[in-house]
This record gives sequence, C-alpha cells and structure tokens, in this order.
Amino acid sequence: MEKPIYRGRFAPSPTGELHFGSLVAAVGSYLDAKANYGEWVVRIEDIDETRCHPEYETSILKTLEAFGFEWDGPVIRQTDRIDAYRAAFDELKRKGLVYGCACTRREIADSAVGIDGAPIYPGTCRNGLHEGKTARAWRLRVPDKTIGFDDSIQGRQEQNLEKDVGDFVLLRADGLFAYQLAVVVDDDEQGINHIVRGADLLASTPRQIWLYECMGRPVPVYAHLPLVVNENGEKLSKQTRAAPVDFADPVTMLGAAMRFLNLAPEKDDFALQDLWNWAIMNWSINIAPKTQTIKTPI
Ligand code: GLU
Repeated sequence: MEKPIYRGRFAPSPTGELHFGSLVAAVGSYLDAKANYGEWVVRIEDIDETRCHPEYETSILKTLEAFGFEWDGPVIRQTDRIDAYRAAFDELKRKGLVYGCACTRREIADSAVGIDGAPIYPGTCRNGLHEGKTARAWRLRVPDKTIGFDDSIQGRQEQNLEKDVGDFVLLRADGLFAYQLAVVVDDDEQGINHIVRGADLLASTPRQIWLYECMGRPVPVYAHLPLVVNENGEKLSKQTRAAPVDFADPVTMLGAAMRFLNLAPEKDDFALQDLWNWAIMNWSINIAPKTQTIKTPI
C-alpha cells in the first residue's frame, strides 16, 4: 500500500503575539513537514474564548506570512467547528464513554496531584450522580492500563490514565468543549498524521491517544520539541511576558529558532527563501534536541 502523504500542522492559540517559543514550534513542524515532502496546515486554537483575542490571530498570521511560512489550504478556526466537537462528543456519549459530573473544583481539590499539576479526578460521579446533584461538566472514562507511544524526539513515553490523570473533562462546566477533545477531532478531520509541538503537551498526549482509540481513529506520530524557557526557567508565554518575535528581521529570528533546533544556518546573510530552502534540505527530526540546553537565545 502506498504511504499516505505526511500532513503536519501548527496550531497556535491566539492568547498573545507569536513569541520565540511558539516560533520554534512553528519552524520545527514546518521543516519536518517540508523535509518529508508533506503538507502543513495552520489551525487557530481559539476554543477557549475566555483566553483568546482575534487581534492576536491576525498578528500571528501576519507574522507567519512575513516569515515566509506557506500553509496548505485555508486556516481553520476552532470557534467555527463547534458542531464537529458536538458530534464527536455525542458519539462518545452514545458509546457510554462519557458521563456527567457534578463535582466542583473545590470538591476535587484535595485529590492527589496528577501528571500535569491538576488534581487526579477521584471518580466520584463515575457510577452516576449522587442524589440531588446535576451535571456541570462531562468526563471521558479512562482505563486502568498503560498507554504508551514512541515519541520521535523524547523516546518511549508511558502513562496510566486512571492513576496519573483520572477521567478527564470533554465538556466544561462553562459550556466550552475542552482542548483535549477539540485538538483530536481537528487533527483527525484534517488528516494530520505527524504532530510536532512543544514538550508542554507531552503529558496530554496519552489522553489524546485514548480519545483516538475511543473514536476508532488512527493515532498520529508525535515529536515533542524541548521548551524554550526564560532566564528564570519559565516557559515563554504571555504570562511570563515573552517578547513578540521581531517582525522586521525574519532571517535573524528564524536563524535563532533553527539554531535552537540544532540546525545552525551555514551563513547569516541568507535571503529569506534561500534560508528556508537550505533548512529544509538539511533538516531531520533526528537532529532535534531532546532537552533544552540554551536559555532564550535572543
Ligand atoms: N494550541 C496549543 C498551544 O498554542 C497547541 C496545541 C497542540 O499543538 O496540540 O499551546
């Protein structure tokens, strides 16, 4: 059988301008797609409307364009895809995999802390709501088994969802679909078979793999890039006041992102398109660093 074409993606949340950390994820996913003669799409992950702003979407896309990224097909936006999330959610519910949960944040706050710093859901509502309670959020049942995958950069990863995370939320108490559901539905429907992204999402991946399994869909290949951190060791983000990438000097910024990825451009004065051509020729996921070794380089 012929191998399906590589399809990768960059999926920024418009919660701030594109900063150096997100540029690294964009460059890593783009180079890997192009070096594999693949396609690359851009998806705006604005599902959490409480944190996203349209002006950041505009500025992220403008920056990507100015930096010479070329994406395939239209940019899709999660807020336009609520019906798709609803359909996937209803199907999981029909299969008996989803249940209503009445617990407040406070009620589960005493539970042991799980793999991503949130309390492990103790399963209070798993076998039905207690009398007089109404569902606030909806959770996916998780199994007591090891979910493993071979990350192309980080190597073998394993997690027991029941012990490490607990049944997790698909539809939030505020009526918004959770990132975990939206990202899987989108990647699946967009035919994404390779995901290159930041290592902050490594701990979420087994949940996403479990969702693919529940939906009976093929699991993509994953590669998690080390995070760029500031001098205090914090992930670059709006909260840590990461500076936006310098719009005016794409070649220098891209060169810095490539160097972070262990791909040092052979000269500093490449024209933008020549830099991309050179980088695509010279990229392989095998050269990507596993751990972050340098502090914010610019
Ligand atoms: N939207 C997420 C972010 O900006 C990325 C999600 C993903 O790559 O799966 O952090």
